[in-house]
Amino acid sequence: MIAVDVTVVGGGIVGCAVADAAARPGRSVVLLEKEARPGAGTTSRNSEVGHGGMYYPTGSLKARCCVRGRRLLREFCLGAGVGWRDAGKLIVACDESEAPGLERLHALGVANGVEDLALLGRDELHRLEPQVAAVAALHSPRTGILDAEGAARALAARAAARGAEVMTGAEVTGLARRGGVWEVAVRRGAETWTHASRQVVNCAGLHADEVAAMAGVDVDGLGLRQRWVKGNYFAVDPRHAGRVSRLVYPVPPRDRDTLGVHVCLDLAGQLRLGPDFEAVPRREDYGVDPARAGAFFAGAARFLPWLAPQDLQPALSGLRPKLDTDAPFADFQVRRETGDLEGLIDLIGIDSPGLTSAPALAEIVVALLDGREPWTAP
Ligand SMILES: Cc1cc2nc3c(=O)[nH]c(=O)nc-3n(C[C@H](O)[C@H](O)[C@H](O)COP(=O)(O)OP(=O)(O)OC[C@H]3O[C@@H](n4cnc5c(N)ncnc54)[C@H](O)[C@@H]3O)c2cc1C
Repeated sequence: MIAVDVTVVGGGIVGCAVADAAARPGRSVVLLEKEARPGAGTTSRNSEVGHGGMYYPTGSLKARCCVRGRRLLREFCLGAGVGWRDAGKLIVACDESEAPGLERLHALGVANGVEDLALLGRDELHRLEPQVAAVAALHSPRTGILDAEGAARALAARAAARGAEVMTGAEVTGLARRGGVWEVAVRRGAETWTHASRQVVNCAGLHADEVAAMAGVDVDGLGLRQRWVKGNYFAVDPRHAGRVSRLVYPVPPRDRDTLGVHVCLDLAGQLRLGPDFEAVPRREDYGVDPARAGAFFAGAARFLPWLAPQDLQPALSGLRPKLDTDAPFADFQVRRETGDLEGLIDLIGIDSPGLTSAPALAEIVVALLDGREPWTAP
């Protein structure tokens, strides 16, 4: 049986970042992605925002990985020729009752180490974004937008250049620990094989709980079961491109783990609204219901007074792998399994800001692979 040091299951942004960070002379790494190309899962279905990190509880993995990950991801994208723009972001209060929400986020952002945050009054906001109607805003100039799938592809390419074997169309169908190593069963088209791996990193995104269960982790007992929450997007008529040059978000609802329907920008300057929050029973359900347009319009017209209902067209959607808990906040789960499951590292519940956080998550994983303490400071 062929033996490798590390098998990474899943070639989304997280698996690609892990393979890239783990590959080095003297350590063989195999990255297995079941789809035809890296980044084809949730990595290609999101807002493509490199978040600042002002939403998450101080000290949480989400806060720490987001703040560090944005810097690392920006540096990587700029160095590798992957699209990135420091677009900047405004969180806007539509009336005075929402202003305390901005102060709360400002304080949280400062505590989390987010750089250059500034509270703006109506006039300053108007100078920056004359087409946005709001009474105050929190400005995060370092928030960026990127080509997320391009970043995953470039990380996979660099991992390959560092000696990792990157295999697409290759699905992991079994994981069993025997004789002190993991036996990894793989299906690729008509071909099947099993290889031995000293360590396995589960970066399977929407399937991460299933892959962990396949390896023998008690996902239900440990509260690691995921549910799928769709985020729908509506495209804004291209004639409005350029009216807004920064990302514009509302003050997020405090009772739910979502940022609220916001204005996204792509690297070409096109505007999109989204994502909303729709629990779905099936992972394959990516349809966008046109009937949702009314709620999107109502949400965005609060701060974009020029928007008309007919400007919105259903666009894409993505599914968040959310931990199945009623808690208003659920952190990323990065688990170094022990005992009978020694050698397995699971990443579960990697919803937003998982894209931004990917390089920082990869640093943590590599420390665990090396048997070192992962970093603790942002
Ligand atoms: C609507 C929405 C908006 C978001 N917006 C943002 C944002 O603006 N900024 C941000 O930072 N984050 C955002 N996120 C979160 C971000 O998209 C994800 O956290 C990130 O893409 C997760 O990457 P991943 O590699 O863990 O998962 P994925 O990209 O889903 O990759 C997992 C991969 O594993 C593969 N796989 C699964 N099972 C197997 C198997 N058995 N064998 C082999 N391969 C397998 C899958 O095919 C998939 O490609 C958003 C998410 C959603 C849904």
